[in-house]
Amino acid sequence: MIKNSNKRVFLGISGDKCPHCNQNLFLFGHKELTEKLLSQPYYFSKWGKCDNCGHIQHYEKYKVFKGESPIQEGSDLQRKLF
Ligand SMILES: [Zn+2]
Repeated sequence: MIKNSNKRVFLGISGDKCPHCNQNLFLFGHKELTEKLLSQPYYFSKWGKCDNCGHIQHYEKYKVFKGESPIQEGSDLQRKLF
């Protein structure tokens, strides 16, 4: 059962399997970027979670360092168009 909390948003199937139990990982993102997150040296804009064993999978590509903006999907395309 996937539930959105007041802190995270369910984004879909991540496409990766859980390294522990080989179930599909679900992808989550932050509902809002809090002051606390933004004050950390870095945070993950998205992460995978196994609904079966609770494993949390972090991805380097979604790592956002302090002062940077998260990668917006489709932004490359927009850059090419404009
Ligand atoms: Zn698992």
